[in-house]
This record gives sequence, structure tokens and C-alpha cells, in this order.
Amino acid sequence: MNTVSDKTVDDKAVVQEYFNATGFDRWRRIYGDGEVNKVQLDIRKGHQQTVDTVLAWLQADGNLANLTVCDAGCGVGSLSIPLAAAGAKVYASDISEKMVGEAQTRATTELGQSDNPTFAVQDLEALSGNYHTVICLDVLIHYPQDKAIAMIDHLSNLADSRLILSFAPKTFAYSLLKKIGDFFPGPSKATRAYLHKESNIVKGLEARGWKVQRNAMTKTSFYFSRLLEATR
Ligand code: SAH
Repeated sequence: MNTVSDKTVDDKAVVQEYFNATGFDRWRRIYGDGEVNKVQLDIRKGHQQTVDTVLAWLQADGNLANLTVCDAGCGVGSLSIPLAAAGAKVYASDISEKMVGEAQTRATTELGQSDNPTFAVQDLEALSGNYHTVICLDVLIHYPQDKAIAMIDHLSNLADSRLILSFAPKTFAYSLLKKIGDFFPGPSKATRAYLHKESNIVKGLEARGWKVQRNAMTKTSFYFSRLLEATR
């Protein structure tokens, strides 16, 4: 594997494998309500804040019932399920069939048999169609910069009016934290984490005709995520 494209294909395969195996067990628990350790509890709370911020933004606009939403990399449905419950028409997909299976189970438990959200196992770069709003939360952290920009490009083509993204921002402090984390790899660190410069992400959005409208930062001790809403 010595070309850039081979390496990125490899990144995707590794991520998919992770979220179908050890990553599935770890994240299903973090994105759940059972007992977890302190670090995982901190991450659970941070992630919930990100989800709650997105829900609050969409609800504040007061037109949820008319919206089609694509949740790309939906995980166990942490956003898709409440969004569908609030009336949006949600198309949720994820590259991991285990995550999608769990999301479907949770949706049926919480909402009963329903085709909203609609779930599919799909790489976000293979998605097609058009949606009012496309949302991609905490996925870009798994990909290097060039790949993240290619993903934003693809998601841009699916989104009519709004794109909401979150990523781990590359700042001096977080780069340092990541270095320390890489130095002491724990058993759960099976995938690499990539930090992204906010200015690069914004540039990528602007090049595709987007303008950042709302912006939020979630940070707890072990979770940090920059959230951007772009519209056009
Ligand atoms: N967005 C969800 C899940 C975040 S965890 C939430 O915030 O709750 C990251 C998820 O991204 C995992 O479920 C993983 O399987 C998924 N993922 C990673 N790469 C992907 C890709 N190329 N296409 C679709 N999903 C992907």
C-alpha cells in the first residue's frame, strides 16, 4: 500500500471492519444507557450534547415535518430516531451492518414498526438521491484530510439546502492530546483518529457554494467535536 488512493481504500476497510467488530461493541455501549466506565460516560455525554444541538437547531426552524434528512454514518440511530420521532422523513445509512442492525432494533423498540427512519447499509460515498438536509456526525474523524474533503464533496451533491457536519478540530491542544493518546494506545484505539483544521473544512464547504450559518463546539474531558451548519 504505497499510493494515496490505496491507503484511503484501506482506511475505509479498516473502519468498516472495526465498526462490525470491537468498535461495534464499544460504541453500542457508549451510545446506550447501560453501565460504562468513566471515560466512556464522559464521551456518551459529549456525544449526546452534539446530537441535542443538532435537534435544537432543526427544531428551532419549525419546519421539521416537511424535511427530508439524510443521516450519513448514522451509527445506532442516536440522531435518526429522535429526528423521525419529531416528524422529519429520515434516510439513515451506515457502512457497518452491525451498527445499522442495532439502529433498526432501537428504532422498532422506540417507535414501533415504521419505515421512518429508513435504514440501509451503505458507504456514504455510494449514496445517491437528494435531500433537503444532509447530516454527517462524528464520521470524518475516521478519515484523513483528502478523504474527508472528498466525502464533503459527495455529501454536497446530495444536499439541496443544508449540510451539517461534525469533526474533531485540529488545534494545538488537541494535537498534543492526540499525540499523548497515540503514545499510550489502549485496547480500544483500534482505528486512527484524524483531527481536521476548521479552516480547511470551511474552505471545502465554501468551494462548493456553502455558507456556514451556525457553529457549535462540544467539549467534555474526552470528547470534542466541532459542529457546522452550512446552507445554500
Ligand atoms: N453519526 C452517528 C455515529 C457516529 S460513529 C452518531 O453521531 O451517533 C461513526 C459511524 O460512522 C460508525 O457507525 C461507522 O460505521 C460510520 N462510518 C464510517 N465510515 C463510513 C462511511 N464511509 N460511510 C458510512 N458510514 C461510515
